[in-house]
Amino acid sequence: MPMRILLVEDDPEIGAAIASALDDAGMAADWVQNGTDALASIETGEFELVLLDIGLPGQDGLSVLRQVRARRNNIPVIVITARDAVEDRISGLDLGADDYLVKPFKVSELMARVRAVARRHAGAGQPLLSNGSLTIDPADRTAEHNGRPVDLTGKEYRLLHALLISPGRIYSREELESKVYTWNEEVSSNAVEVLIHSLRKKTDKAAIKNVRGLGWMVPKE
Ligand code: CA
Repeated sequence: MPMRILLVEDDPEIGAAIASALDDAGMAADWVQNGTDALASIETGEFELVLLDIGLPGQDGLSVLRQVRARRNNIPVIVITARDAVEDRISGLDLGADDYLVKPFKVSELMARVRAVARRHAGAGQPLLSNGSLTIDPADRTAEHNGRPVDLTGKEYRLLHALLISPGRIYSREELESKVYTWNEEVSSNAVEVLIHSLRKKTDKAAIKNVRGLGWMVPKE
């Protein structure tokens, strides 16, 4: 699970210890020591998770968290609080922290919480799926055709997602039905055709190819 983590901690000893522990665990940790640098770093969009100390000089961690969430950034945040600071923990969670750690903590606990938060956010940080002309972003479930946004229904999105996992591979009707429909749904015999027809209308007739008797694919470009 290689991840880029932003560590925000003003204490040099604690910061160095956490950074080196993260490094040992194969996670790329960048370390900043105040709230202003933390906000600027988060804004770059390069990080997948933030470990945020609450007790920072000047702008404290709660203020940083408040601003991150006010900008509608849902990057996973684990706040780090002092042992007796129950109020900080409550405020942190209320402000949108994903979890918290209480100092002093063991590195193994830190790692377990990072893994758990990262698992809950799987989906965010997934790579784009594309064959060149069609692209979907699993993180926010959006689609584009030749750079133009395409508005898809949930079922159209799931079908396109299935096809774009492997451009050039032919998917049978049964495979596509299983990706698009839940176990409890009635599926009419031409349901896949109807979705493909609609996807083509929203993109391009040639965007999804039918291979007679076998199924459908998006061309590899
Ligand atoms: Ca501190």
